[in-house]
Amino acid sequence: MQESSQLKVYKFGGASVKDAGAIRNLSRIVQEHGSAGPLLIVVSAMGKTTNALEKLYQLAHTGQDFSEKLAALRTFHLAVAAELDIADEQTAATSAPTLAVLLEQLGDRLATLTPGDYDKQYDQVVSFGELLATLIVARALQAQWLDCRPLIRTDHTWREGRVDWPTTERALTADVVPLLAQGPIVTQGFVGGTTSGQTTTLGREGSDYTAAILAYCLGAESVTIWKDVAGLLNADPKFFSDTVRYPEISYQETIEMAYYGASVIHPKTIKPLAVRRIPLLVKSFLDPSAEGTRIHDCRHGLLVPAFIRKDGQCLVSFESKDLTFISEENLEVIFGALAQVRLKINLMQNSAISFSVCTDFSAYRLEKLLAVLREQFTIHYNTGLELYTIKNYDAPSIQRLTEGRELLLEQRSRQTFQFVCRGSTNEATA
Ligand code: ASP
Ligand code: MG
Repeated sequence: MQESSQLKVYKFGGASVKDAGAIRNLSRIVQEHGSAGPLLIVVSAMGKTTNALEKLYQLAHTGQDFSEKLAALRTFHLAVAAELDIADEQTAATSAPTLAVLLEQLGDRLATLTPGDYDKQYDQVVSFGELLATLIVARALQAQWLDCRPLIRTDHTWREGRVDWPTTERALTADVVPLLAQGPIVTQGFVGGTTSGQTTTLGREGSDYTAAILAYCLGAESVTIWKDVAGLLNADPKFFSDTVRYPEISYQETIEMAYYGASVIHPKTIKPLAVRRIPLLVKSFLDPSAEGTRIHDCRHGLLVPAFIRKDGQCLVSFESKDLTFISEENLEVIFGALAQVRLKINLMQNSAISFSVCTDFSAYRLEKLLAVLREQFTIHYNTGLELYTIKNYDAPSIQRLTEGRELLLEQRSRQTFQFVCRGSTNEATA
């Protein structure tokens, strides 16, 4: 780690680079708000490109025609580059590839997928969103383009690479510090690499986490996440009309909100920053002079209730077939299977002979889970559900959120009230 570095890390997500106009806005922010000192800019894939790549991958993996979708992705990126007057040519001064080369590599990848290794190949394909976006942004800013895959070292946990911190810190310090002295750097969020040079991803929406990894390893002064909202709010303004912004909030509170699904920050982002006491600023790219939220080491009284909504949920209940009680032995089998298929528990509850978990829905992982546990348990599941969490709840906030909803499961602890309810119905029994 650098001693008392002046380094600032900026992170721009998909919405802030969604088209040429957004990238021009980003350039203005960097010019007007970027410090005179070293600046490292982390960029996600443009707009909904990651979803588009997931669809492309799905088509290619299942042997369907993906050419139209690939052409659309190609046209989109080339059109943005053209609108920004970016010449797509390689210069001797930089190791950056051209967009044309990247797009060709993506096409080759998709055309040469092999059966199996689903998660591994996913990473090799879906990571192209960040490579393309950073190339465009770096050129627009006339900044240095950095491929962070050889530097952010992870293990082989595809789609959720676990960071090898000492190796990453050494590599970043050695390679990035000298580059920072030469001017701003643009690099990819969301991606990393294994010892053998294969690409990994850090989990959907993982670019925030990348910003934290870089800040931690390089001893940054602060991280700023530029969002389309005014800061960290007590609810998502897409679903709640009367939101309140927290001007400052502790790491601890923020970690919990992110864990429960507040989509404003990736849950893994806070810990590395808290460990090195690096403040995290959440600011609006639509109103860059506004105050935003400062997440740092602070104390505050009880906050207003926070409403957190997670959709795409699935409630799975396991009943032992021989009517034995849910015991440590049974739970061991269920937890083992959940870990094996990599389904994360968002909420759980048990009764005498039944155990229920609420997880993010994935047809693929659920199918695998059923295959493992079907022999031993009768399994019921509902999909298309929503999980609501009220942090720092009170009676009116519970009333407000539960009114008119049929709760499939509810749970409360001292500070947190959670429930699962129907979005659109989908039921099944395995
Ligand atoms: N582009 C990736 C995603 O959409 C990572 C990110 O946006 O943070 O999940
Ligand atoms: Mg994204």
